[in-house]
Amino acid sequence: MKILIFATQKDSGIVAATYEVIEAAKSLGGDICTAVLAENAEPLAAELASRGGGKVLAVSNPALKYFNDEIYTRVMMELISRYSPDLVLGPATFYGKALFGRLAGLGSEALVSDVTGMTLDGDRVVVTRPSYGGSVIEQIVEDGGKPFFVTVRPKIFPESKDGAGEVVTETVDASCFKSGAKVIEVKVESAGSQNLAEADVIVSAGRGIKGPENAGLVKELADSLGAAFGASRAVVDAGWLSYSQQVGQTGKTVNPKLYIAVGISGAIQHLVGMQTSKTIVAINRDKDAPIFNIANYGIIGDLFEVVPPLTRKFKEELQ
Ligand SMILES: Cc1cc2nc3c(=O)[nH]c(=O)nc-3n(C[C@H](O)[C@H](O)[C@H](O)COP(=O)(O)OP(=O)(O)OC[C@H]3O[C@@H](n4cnc5c(N)ncnc54)[C@H](O)[C@@H]3O)c2cc1C
Repeated sequence: MKILIFATQKDSGIVAATYEVIEAAKSLGGDICTAVLAENAEPLAAELASRGGGKVLAVSNPALKYFNDEIYTRVMMELISRYSPDLVLGPATFYGKALFGRLAGLGSEALVSDVTGMTLDGDRVVVTRPSYGGSVIEQIVEDGGKPFFVTVRPKIFPESKDGAGEVVTETVDASCFKSGAKVIEVKVESAGSQNLAEADVIVSAGRGIKGPENAGLVKELADSLGAAFGASRAVVDAGWLSYSQQVGQTGKTVNPKLYIAVGISGAIQHLVGMQTSKTIVAINRDKDAPIFNIANYGIIGDLFEVVPPLTRKFKEELQ
């Protein structure tokens, strides 16, 4: 089986979720190729080649500096037609999801997004993904159409650490780099909210914080742990925090090692976005709050009394 992996790069580095996809691909066996598209792709390609990316196809062009759906889709389509993979894999990150929808649509091929498991049944790929808010686990078998497109949920597979590969410099037609859209500037929205999907530790604030003036209390707790800062929908709908921080059904799906929910009740729409976290800690003054049903550890108390000493302790111990 020929597998082509899309490597996500950002800020001149490879996003960790890419190495998880490589590890997932290794478990299937077959020939692995990885495509890296960047302003200067060769150094990134060399790193990928040394970490299991197999034959790494490096495409460099100034137009590839920032993710652009149109340009990235054209370049990937070109590589797909050149290498005819059976399976195309990418991380289910913001960029990965945007790209794979277009690729599968253009090729009229099947796409399964956000998978949490992959195996082979004979020579057919079988993927697993949670559905209906995690209450159903689907097993989906490829129908034989080539290629089969799959995005892999971050933080499920370990990262590939090693493997000998080679770098192949690819050139594509100049027309691929034309686009009606041009990125002029990138502004980082707010510190701590960027990498929710990839974060190992997340601290989220709910309506229990009472108002935007208290968001800093929870942010400080997040900072003391080097954690990403998330929120419930109630909080972002109220305008206390940004939509990019929302965790849940209509926000981001996260899978950190540690998730601390502060003043969050645990509505099902919030739980579906974070219930696969390895360890869940809830701080809530209501002992019957549903969040305690899934929490590994719970602190029943007023967050305004509980959070400051916790933050102090973490700062003492960890900084
Ligand atoms: C279609 C749809 C999609 C949705 N998608 C999402 C989504 O993606 N993400 C999401 O989060 N929600 C989503 N929701 C909304 C969801 O149903 C809940 O309304 C929301 O999650 C509630 O947020 P909350 O827990 O912060 O607020 P609340 O439910 O109001 O809970 C606040 C909690 O804070 C506790 N509290 C209050 N004061 C204190 C204190 N001083 N100390 C300690 N604890 C305190 C209370 O006991 C309570 O449990 C969606 C709803 C719908 C209908």
